[in-house]
Amino acid sequence: MMRRAGHGQPRIPATATTVMKAKVAIARCADYTDETVYKAVASAIGRLGGMRAYVAPGERILIKPNLLASRTADKAVTTHPAVISAVIRLVKEAGAIPFAGDSPAIGSARKVAEKSGILEVCRTHNVEVVELKTLAIVENPSGHRFKRLEVSKEALDFDGIINCPKFKTHAQVYLTLGVKNLFGCVPGKLKPQWHLSAGVDSIDFADMLLDLYFFLKPRLNIMDAITAMEGNGPSSGTPVQMGLVFASNDAIAMDAIAAQVVGAKAHDLPILKAAEKRGVSAADPDEVDVLGEPVEAVRIHGFKFPPFMSVNFAAGLPYFIDKRLRKALTSRPSVDARACSLCSVCVDICPPGVMSKTDRIGIDYERCIRCYCCQEVCPEGAITPVEGWLKRLIPGL
Ligand code: SF4
Ligand code: SF4
Repeated sequence: MMRRAGHGQPRIPATATTVMKAKVAIARCADYTDETVYKAVASAIGRLGGMRAYVAPGERILIKPNLLASRTADKAVTTHPAVISAVIRLVKEAGAIPFAGDSPAIGSARKVAEKSGILEVCRTHNVEVVELKTLAIVENPSGHRFKRLEVSKEALDFDGIINCPKFKTHAQVYLTLGVKNLFGCVPGKLKPQWHLSAGVDSIDFADMLLDLYFFLKPRLNIMDAITAMEGNGPSSGTPVQMGLVFASNDAIAMDAIAAQVVGAKAHDLPILKAAEKRGVSAADPDEVDVLGEPVEAVRIHGFKFPPFMSVNFAAGLPYFIDKRLRKALTSRPSVDARACSLCSVCVDICPPGVMSKTDRIGIDYERCIRCYCCQEVCPEGAITPVEGWLKRLIPGL
């Protein structure tokens, strides 16, 4: 029988009378040597009650790394194998049975895991890599906006999920952290369709991600921010040393604190903005207990964010506003013809089919929904988000 992974709430009971603040643990981790990472991850989880508070002996636990694209670990596109190795060890020590799985937008989880080094780690620990590829349509009556979800049947068949994102920038949601990583539990081919369903506004897309998050509700979230990605993320940005591991049983709280560490305001992140609109207190860093390293002690200065997405603003403009003004305010994907290899990957994935290939890649910006799927999958890093010319001219607009 299919089980809903979300039944795996933290096994530490809250008393009926206590409103508990969400907790986020931060641990320093200087490098990716196995024992250093293991100690940092164990220390962060230890501050949250230890792995045994989240998994029980004999349970089948899905470890969900970020397996976005086939890149080596040093490119910081995927969760580092040393982090997955540490989580596997801790799950096994708690007596549960770990699996690793994802559904990349392009290619198989196994192929991406092989390139990133995660497959080797799984082989060493005798852990199966699972393709999250089979469609399950599930009712989601408690969903805020999406009452029906399309998710991976394989993800639902586990007793619980441990979410292991990579800290990266993201053209559409500004930073991809804990909540966004669960989008990998949607079978790969369906992802572009979800972008279409959510439409042009990144807050709508964020709302969908939140509904998915609350449905799947991972038991633990452990984020690899040892080497993060800044700039043109999530697949073509620049690796940057942060030296941190974040952990929480609440991905929204973890995202709020991680954003604060690099100097982003909660309002800059559509996911946190959408959560705040729903009244989720964990989206406010002031409502979160930070354990281990305090935010002030680990703050990262000069982190390079992607261009701020003004598409929300433009999409929210009244219809009588001139089309040209709308265009001047709206961010858009831009293709660098010199870097482009004309591989067609972006054309194939574009959800509304507004890209074309001749002797260069063309985009019909009138119909482009600004999902940035093209930028996410481009193997050459040839696509970057650029702001509308008026926004560039008047940065504070
Ligand atoms: S051109 Fe890029 S950003 Fe625009 S709809 Fe297509 S994939 Fe999305
Ligand atoms: S994915 Fe990148 S390299 Fe391939 S055609 Fe599109 S822009 Fe060019």
